[in-house]
Order: sequence, then C-alpha cells, then structure tokens
Amino acid sequence: MIPVQSGELSDAGRNKSKMSKKSKTDINILNSASARIRERIKSDGGSFLANDNISEYIKPGELIELGVEVADRVRDLLHTLVIDVENDHNTRETAERVSRMYINEVFKGRYHEQPKVTSFPNAKKLDEIYTVGPMTVRSACSHHFVPIIGNVWIGIKPGSRVIGLSKFSRVADWVFSRPHIQEEAVMILADEIEKLCEPQGLGIIIKAEHYCMKLRGVKEPQCSMVNSVVRGDFRHDASLKQEFFELVRQQQAFMN
Ligand SMILES: [Zn+2]
Repeated sequence: MIPVQSGELSDAGRNKSKMSKKSKTDINILNSASARIRERIKSDGGSFLANDNISEYIKPGELIELGVEVADRVRDLLHTLVIDVENDHNTRETAERVSRMYINEVFKGRYHEQPKVTSFPNAKKLDEIYTVGPMTVRSACSHHFVPIIGNVWIGIKPGSRVIGLSKFSRVADWVFSRPHIQEEAVMILADEIEKLCEPQGLGIIIKAEHYCMKLRGVKEPQCSMVNSVVRGDFRHDASLKQEFFELVRQQQAFMN
C-alpha cells in the first residue's frame, strides 16, 4: 500500500470526496429538463423513441432548459474528441449551434407540436384521386445521425374530409424532422395523413439519398432508396394503385 502523504487525501477521504461530487452531479441530472421529461413519459406509459414526437410532455420554458443541457453534453463530446473549444475560434460556439440545430431545426418534429392543419368536410363528395409532389424532406438516420434528403409524393382518394395541398408539405416536413429509418418514416407519415383527412385511399412514395451510404461505410454517392406505402382503396384496388404510380411517374417526367 502506498503511504498517504501529507496534503493528499486518504482512499476513504478520496472516495468520500468523489461521492459528494457524484451525488451533486446525480442531483443535477435528476433535476434536469431531460430527466423530468423522460419521467413524465414513462409514468404516462408513453415512448420516447428517436422518431416519436414528445412535445405533449414538454412544459412551457423547458425547451430552453433542454437546449442548455444539450449544449453542455455536446461540449462534453467535443472535449472527449480532444478539440480545444476554448482556443479554437471555429468550434467555440459549436455546442450551442448544434443544440439549436437539433431542437429547432433538424429534429424539430420530436420537440415541437404538429403544425396546425385545418381539415374541411368533403362537401362536393370528391372521389377522384390526385397526387402532390415532389416535396423535399430532410431527416437524419437514427443509426449515424447523418442526413437523409429526398422527395416525397402523396396520392389521395378523398374521404370524408379534405386538407389544403400545402399542408401535406408541412406535415411531411414535421414527420421527417426526426432521426429515422426511411421504412418507418413513410409509415408514420401515412398514419398522420390518415388521422388528418381520413382518405378512402392513400399512397406515399419516397425517394431519398442517405449520407450514411455516401459519406461513410460503402461510400456509394449515386445510391438512393425508394419505398412506398399504399392504404385503403389503393391497397385493395389494383387499377387505382396503378393510376397512383402512373400519376407520380408523370409528375417526375414533368420535372425532367
Ligand atoms: Zn446511418
């Protein structure tokens, strides 16, 4: 055993000092905005997966608190990456920038409520299908947090309610502004659109480029992913489904 020199703490003293430091940190973490929000979600039996929206559990003012907390953790990450944030003028404010970017921009669909969408009764009993697109969507992959950028087309056979065309773009932007995998993103978007306008038929096609394939890993710059979902009459009626894909093809051809 190494003798304790004067001015040094004994093992017991060191542990005690560590413990009091640790418990102080623990108290801070327990009182943090993220801890309170997580606790609320858990006690409500909710989930906080990367592609969930958790805005209903966030109280007024807590997003600002959460922003400070996220910036602190990003700064910790930069320290751990051995980046001198105190002396490097380029990264001095990076933690705050990244925090704002996550909470208010690229992941705003997790922390902010759905944009207001008013639906109207389908008074004229419209039942011809129409498609809207391409609408640009931006997301980040749940696995690496690097961008997914693509286009979405939505096809509707109206049901009891209708919504304005621009609302599809707003809802798609809100749903995609979360960490995602594309296969789940399209399902979540379909669920939200069904809730908003209860269409008789719904089809969604997404074509997106994934920076986890471009920037890293296999480094395939030309590769993209296309997937679709069809619901209601588009699922049961093959000719309607065909018409939906044909309309989207025409829209794509119109773009070229
Ligand atoms: Zn990835």
